[in-house]
Amino acid sequence: MNAPATSRWEGRIFLGDWVAARGSSLPVVEPATGATLGMLGIANGEDVDESVRIAAEAQPGWAATAFDRRAEILREVARLLKERAAELNDWNIRECGSIPPKAEWELQASYEQAHMAAAMPMQAIGQVFPSSMPGRSNYWQRIPIGVVGVIAPWNFPLLLGLRSVLPALALGNAVILKPDAQSAVCGGLLLAELFADAGLPQGVLHVLPGGGATGDALVKHPGVGMISFTGSTAVGRQIGETCGRMLKKVALELGGNNAMVILDDADLDSASSCAAWGAFLHQGQICMQAGRHLVQRKVAGRYIELLAERAARLVVGNPAAGPVHLGPLINDRQAEKVEAIVQRSVAMGAKAVVGGNRQGRFYPATVLSGVTPDMPAFTDEIFGPVAPVTVFDSDEEAIALVNSSPYGLAAAVHGASAARALALASRLKSGMVHVNDQTVNNEFQVPFGGMGASGNGGRFGGPASFEEFTQSQWISVMERGIQYPF
Ligand code: NAD
Repeated sequence: MNAPATSRWEGRIFLGDWVAARGSSLPVVEPATGATLGMLGIANGEDVDESVRIAAEAQPGWAATAFDRRAEILREVARLLKERAAELNDWNIRECGSIPPKAEWELQASYEQAHMAAAMPMQAIGQVFPSSMPGRSNYWQRIPIGVVGVIAPWNFPLLLGLRSVLPALALGNAVILKPDAQSAVCGGLLLAELFADAGLPQGVLHVLPGGGATGDALVKHPGVGMISFTGSTAVGRQIGETCGRMLKKVALELGGNNAMVILDDADLDSASSCAAWGAFLHQGQICMQAGRHLVQRKVAGRYIELLAERAARLVVGNPAAGPVHLGPLINDRQAEKVEAIVQRSVAMGAKAVVGGNRQGRFYPATVLSGVTPDMPAFTDEIFGPVAPVTVFDSDEEAIALVNSSPYGLAAAVHGASAARALALASRLKSGMVHVNDQTVNNEFQVPFGGMGASGNGGRFGGPASFEEFTQSQWISVMERGIQYPF
């Protein structure tokens, strides 16, 4: 593995040019070892003010840039993502504790999204409507919002930042990206350099590493026309409140507590494989993680056995040091939270069939049996590699259990009868439901998003991104001047 080069961005933020951060600084910590990989510059309120000023100045010129030039730059972004894959992946592994296949998948998905974004500027931007007034044309068109603030989490920093940054830029906005301070290098600083090298005009993209205070300054800035936020429900609610008060457009993609329903006619070998992937991938730190396993009584014993066998085979360790299935959790606080949820649930009567013992930031793949709806393992978003199993008797009971959660991001249903599984799936309060698959699914061309406490109904991906990252305008044109009665 290469030693990460830090000299370009240490202590600096990107406002179209690298400048020293006026705020504080924070170490970039490798979660697997605790080693410091570099020092981040943290943007403060003044930096945000300066960034918004520069972005607002640069945006009209970018929006007026010929569509084919915007597309060309985004295709170059895609090419550079591939060319710089080794560096981006090294950082994803070391900075975020990702295993190499996760980092590689994330990079490939980001590459595909860049190509999709490059196809956006050439699309029709409006419709023409008839008019009741003779000689009038009614044009309804989508126009850029102006300056879009993107606030991203640390778990898939590249993908979850870029899924907003790319379409927002493609549609003529300027973008200020605030990555999480725990993933600011691969989720921001390397991207700033990459977009600049791809030919994006100066000032159109900014990267401001920081935490809550930096994000809050961005949200509250009157010059920012939209906030695209991916993160926790608690922070999303605050941001939603602020944006509501300011009448600012806001897209909220929030937490989840996603259910997999295993019906008594399911293929248990496939279901347990799907479950292991959905529950343990990236140490369970995925908004769509399969965090509740609802299994029909008749097959519950066998399902637990198969899932526990799969969990026991998964190797935990430092992903930069050798092949492992699970890397570290992102920080001590998160590891302690996972441990506390498991311990409290066990104290209430659940059983750790496999796993359940934390070693520092490392937590093994864990299967809990005997989980009831009053236990924290059922009610809380764990964000760790834990598969809590709850037994049900009827399809109606399964639907009620799934829908008892305030979250509504992703769900999955396993069953041999497509008609039965589909009938059940269509009654789940979930933005995304997968039949005979698992909950962690993200295809960039399909609109993605949740219901209830998982978001405010916004969708990213495919045609939905046109709606999210533009506003609309009615322009009517009369052939010649007319006279009204007044
Ligand atoms: P978080 O809400 O604490 O942080 C997310 C981002 O918001 C970070 O960049 C953080 O610095 C910033 N932030 C924190 N406080 C802020 C404030 N007051 N104002 C503005 N910005 C602020 O989330 P987290 O715990 O780091 O991330 C995990 C959560 O994100 C989980 O709940 C997970 O389900 C969710 N998530 C959702 C999706 C989705 O697409 N629905 C995807 C990934 C993660």
